[in-house]
Amino acid sequence: MKKTDILIIGGGPAGIQSTRTVKTLSPETSVTVLRPEENSVIYCAIPYAIEGMFGVDKVKKSDELVTGVGAELIREKAVKVDFNTKIVTTESGEEINYKKLFIVTGAKPFVPPIPGSNLKGIFTIKTIPDTERIIEKLKDAKKAVVIGAGAIGIEQAQAYAEKGLETYLIDMADRPIPAMVDKDFGEFAVEELEKQGIKLRFGVALKEFKGSEFVEKVVLGNGEEIDINPGKDIVILSVGMKPEVKLFENTGLNIDKDGIVVNEKMETNIEDVYAAGDVCQFYSVIDKKIISGKLATNAVPMAKVMAKNAIGIEDYYPGFVNGAVTVVGERRFGGTGFTEDFAKKRGFDVITGYGETTSRFPMMPGAKPVKVKIVVDKESKRVIGGQVVGYEAVAERIDVITFAIQNHMTVKQLSKLSYSAQPWQTFFPARNAIVQACDDILNKLRKM
Ligand SMILES: Cc1cc2nc3c(=O)[nH]c(=O)nc-3n(C[C@H](O)[C@H](O)[C@H](O)COP(=O)(O)OP(=O)(O)OC[C@H]3O[C@@H](n4cnc5c(N)ncnc54)[C@H](O)[C@@H]3O)c2cc1C
Repeated sequence: MKKTDILIIGGGPAGIQSTRTVKTLSPETSVTVLRPEENSVIYCAIPYAIEGMFGVDKVKKSDELVTGVGAELIREKAVKVDFNTKIVTTESGEEINYKKLFIVTGAKPFVPPIPGSNLKGIFTIKTIPDTERIIEKLKDAKKAVVIGAGAIGIEQAQAYAEKGLETYLIDMADRPIPAMVDKDFGEFAVEELEKQGIKLRFGVALKEFKGSEFVEKVVLGNGEEIDINPGKDIVILSVGMKPEVKLFENTGLNIDKDGIVVNEKMETNIEDVYAAGDVCQFYSVIDKKIISGKLATNAVPMAKVMAKNAIGIEDYYPGFVNGAVTVVGERRFGGTGFTEDFAKKRGFDVITGYGETTSRFPMMPGAKPVKVKIVVDKESKRVIGGQVVGYEAVAERIDVITFAIQNHMTVKQLSKLSYSAQPWQTFFPARNAIVQACDDILNKLRKM
C-alpha cells in the first residue's frame, strides 16, 4: 500500500498552497495530492476567457506548482475515506495510507431546488468543461439570462453582453454586488451595467424555469416571464457555492451548513485531519459569527495556517474579512468587512462616513474620481466595513481598509493612516479618501 506523510484531497488554491508551504518549510515531509481534473484552474479569469479575451488554455495552471516542489500528483478522485485506518481509496481502487490528511475539496455551484432547475440549457460555471460548454453555446445563443448579480454573475453578464447577446441580470437583492457594496455605491454599478445594455431586474426572486427538455421560460417572482429559445439561448445560475462534502457525510467528520467545521488551526474534530478553503465553514473576524467566505483570497491563507500546524509550526487563522473587488464597465468596485446593510442585519448600530478625491492630482492626465465609504460600529468605534468605487487603485484601498478591520482598529486609528502622495498616483498630499471618510465619521460622532 502507498504511504505518505501528508495526503491532500484537492488541487485548487488551498491544495496548491498547502503543498507548497509544507514542502518549503519541511522538504523531507512526503506530500501526495489527489486531483481528478486534468488541470488546476485560475477561476477568477474564467469570465474573461468566456468573453474571448484569451483562450481557455490561459486559465489552466501548471502542474509544476505541485510537482516542482517535490510533491506527488495523482490525477484521481478520492472515493472512500477511513479515518480509523487512515486510508483513502481512489477511483481506480488504489489505497493510500496517510499520517495527516488535508481536505481541500472546495465548493460547487449551488443549484436552487426550484421547479425546472434540472432542464437543459441551464448552466453553472466552475470547471474548464463548464467554460468550454458555454463558449460552444455562445456560437448560437442570442440571449443570456444570468441569475445572481454577485461578482461572478456580473463578470459573466458583461462577457455575454460584450459577445453581443441580449443579456438579463437578475438578483433578489435591491442592487448589484450586494455583498460588496450598499445601494448608494451600487447605483454606480447599475449605471455601468445599463451603459452596456444589460437588462436589470433587482429586488425580484427567481421563481421557476418552464420547459420540456430544454428551458423555455425563466419565471420571476413578480410574474415576469423571460422567453428562452430552447436549445439555443443560455441561462446561467450564479447564486452561490455549496461545500463539496459528500465524500465525508456519515464519517463522523463535523460538517455544518457552510462546510466542515474547523478551529483556528484548521483542525477538524478528527485527529490528524485538517480542512481549509471553500470546503470549510468559518467565522467573521469582526463578530466571530459564521459568515460565508468562499474566496481564493481566504482559501490561500487558511491553507498556509493548516500546513504549518500540520508540520508543528503553530499558527492561527483569524477569520474572514472578505475583501473583494470587481470591474463593472469603466469602473472598479470593492468591498470589505460588512456593508452598512449587512452590519445592521448582524445587529450593529453603525455610523458611516464618505471620502472623495481624484485618483491622481486633478491637473494630471487620467485623473478620475475615487469614492470611499467607511462603516463603523458606533459602540466600539471599530472599523467594520469599507467600500470603494473608482477607476483605478481600488483594490489597494480596499486592502488598507481590510488591514484595519483585521486588526480591530478604531476609526480614530485609521484616521491617522500615514499615506504617500505623488501627482501620477494619488490626490494632493492634503487629502486621502480613506482618511477623509474616517474624519467625516469622527465629526459626526463629535456632534452626537
Ligand atoms: C468563475 C469564478 C470566479 C472567481 N473569481 C474569484 C476572484 O476574483 N477572487 C477570489 O478570491 N475568488 C474567486 N473565486 C472563488 C475561488 O475560485 C475559490 O474560493 C477557490 O477556488 C477555493 O479554493 P479551494 O482550493 O478551497 O477549492 P477549489 O478551488 O474548489 O478546489 C477544490 C479541489 O478539490 C478537488 N476535489 C473535489 N472533490 C474531490 C475528491 N473527491 N477527490 C479528489 N479531489 C477532489 C477539485 O477537483 C479541486 O481540484 C471565483 C470562483 C469562480 C468559480
